Amino acid sequence: MITAFLVAFFIFSAGGTWAAEIAGANPPVVIACIETGNASQAVTLHAEAIAARIYEGIGVHIDWRRRARDCNASIEKTFHIEFITRLPDRKYPGALASTPLGSTPPRIDVYYDRIEQMTEPRVMPILLGHVLAHEIAHLLEGLNRHSEQGIMKAHWDPADYEEMSVRPLSFAPEDVALIQNRLGVNAMMLAQRPKR
Ligand SMILES: [Zn+2]
Repeated sequence: MITAFLVAFFIFSAGGTWAAEIAGANPPVVIACIETGNASQAVTLHAEAIAARIYEGIGVHIDWRRRARDCNASIEKTFHIEFITRLPDRKYPGALASTPLGSTPPRIDVYYDRIEQMTEPRVMPILLGHVLAHEIAHLLEGLNRHSEQGIMKAHWDPADYEEMSVRPLSFAPEDVALIQNRLGVNAMMLAQRPKR
């Protein structure tokens, strides 16, 4: 089995407050400005769709935008995703992505060729979609934490890979609560209750 893991780390402990800024939208919208370099467009679009579907399931809309075309520095309430290839092996050995919490703008680095090398082409978009969902959750939670099950496991095992090839993995209940609380999903749903 190939060991692979996903990294999040703090640059400074304050974390970001940007997640609070997008609370209140209906549903909360997260703008993801992505720079994919020479990665396959078909793979990338498929992976984005998988990540978006995962988040729709917990009431969060991901608005995917091409960084070079649809994003500019003045857009607030966004985070940046960059596909990086040929990272030296000694840099985060075995990691598929990293998310430095507290960076400005919020940023995720995806080690595209490492993901490509550990999977067959058919599964590539699926794994990439889950990596994106995992790292986005680190940003949304603002935490360097992992769960015992689901998308936020530090290491997916063969059973997880098998499951995600059939249907997307789920977030553990604690991750759903963390993300929804941070984005105000629960408050929104309460606000929509009919008044008595
Ligand atoms: Zn992680």
